[in-house]
Amino acid sequence: MQTQATTASEQQVLTADILLPMTADNPVIQQGAVLVQGQKIIATGTREEIMAMAPEAVWHDYGRAVLMPGLINTHSHSGFLRGTAEDLPVWEWLRLYIDPMHRVLTAEDAEIASWLCYAESLLSGTTTSVDMWRHMAGSARAAETLGNRVVMVPYVGEAEGYDYFDTLDDNEALIQQWHGKADGRINVWVGLEHMYYATPQACRRAVALCTRYNTGLHTHSNEAEAEIGEAMKRFGCSPIRALERLGLLEPARVLLAHCVWLDEDEIALLAEKNIGVAHNPSSNMKLASGSAPIEQLIAAGVAVGIGTDGEKENNNLDMLEEIKIASLLAKLRCMDAAAYGAWNVLRSATIEGARAIGMDDQIGSLQPGKQADIIAVRADTPRMTPFLTEGPFMNVHHNLVHGALGGDVCMTMVAGRIVMQNQQLLNGDLPRYMNEAEHACRALLERRAAWLAEHEEGALSPL
Ligand SMILES: [Zn+2]
Repeated sequence: MQTQATTASEQQVLTADILLPMTADNPVIQQGAVLVQGQKIIATGTREEIMAMAPEAVWHDYGRAVLMPGLINTHSHSGFLRGTAEDLPVWEWLRLYIDPMHRVLTAEDAEIASWLCYAESLLSGTTTSVDMWRHMAGSARAAETLGNRVVMVPYVGEAEGYDYFDTLDDNEALIQQWHGKADGRINVWVGLEHMYYATPQACRRAVALCTRYNTGLHTHSNEAEAEIGEAMKRFGCSPIRALERLGLLEPARVLLAHCVWLDEDEIALLAEKNIGVAHNPSSNMKLASGSAPIEQLIAAGVAVGIGTDGEKENNNLDMLEEIKIASLLAKLRCMDAAAYGAWNVLRSATIEGARAIGMDDQIGSLQPGKQADIIAVRADTPRMTPFLTEGPFMNVHHNLVHGALGGDVCMTMVAGRIVMQNQQLLNGDLPRYMNEAEHACRALLERRAAWLAEHEEGALSPL
């Protein structure tokens, strides 16, 4: 049992047949329990141990279920264009669908998208999302109310032809207004859509903002093979070396999405600089970008998290589905059925995802002193049966990775507060968010069509 001294009286206990704290060596605790006080975890152990410590606490018993750390979605985008931007490779998709959407997106649209996406995330067990999006004061309001934890990263474009994105001024104002708010659940980082969307001068300012506000930097890199040749043309080196030259690997915390096309020198550099990677298997397959070298990254010591990417490149934000896809894609890439084993996949979705965003001292595992970000996943379902909790065929981790889906999550707690129970949001109005997104989507598609009618070539191609 692990404990931390406590004095206050208001305590709650979560208990279930299995507890996966996701600490070192991946322990599986039978009849496990977690003692929570305020925002934090006070102790983890068996029911008997916790009962002896806190007989007066309020108990929540999830029975035949798995208690584990909340899932960490290390790369996503709020949005409501699901199913409307299909069948194109990534740079064409940006030019014809996505960047024209950014040209006509309003702050009101952006806020509606975040309410919808944060609701979807909580319903499927995601407690922390790294969200790269626009006009994010509205996203902050959504997170403040719904109760999720978020790393907000504006889509910044600071180069000729990209003046319709958020700016570094917007990013700085968002940091000043929202970083550390909602009891610390809201974090604001500096975001660049891509190094090709920013001048070298803007890159220097982005890094300076990270230093000034002691925050992280997030961008997309090495997603499509075409980026490699473009970096050679522009910088005479690989994209990761180009990021280094631009100073973009200097901030204390840097997270790169995708990292599909990497050479050995780039993998070594990511490890040396302690750069986090957000792996996006569905998106990388759907946009025909490729398969990332996850096994080599992990072997090199790089912190690899998993991200769904946005609703338009996935098309859902279900991390339990995403971890299955991550496992399958790695096995296929390596032609090795043992590649990216279930424990490593679960670690990517929890503690390694936390390490990738530099928050592993606060979240990602269930340990005394950490934030109480905890989910319960039902095991009384056909797709979790048989549920063999010990012995040579113990299948809890395999069933979670390859069997469970987001709808099986029956409780989501963030910072000690239960915010979803039995697939119901406790602080939100899901029908309203869906209705608003329906209307906003139709109006946005009309505005985008009008813009495209005048600009047949689409937005500026980065390549
Ligand atoms: Zn993305």
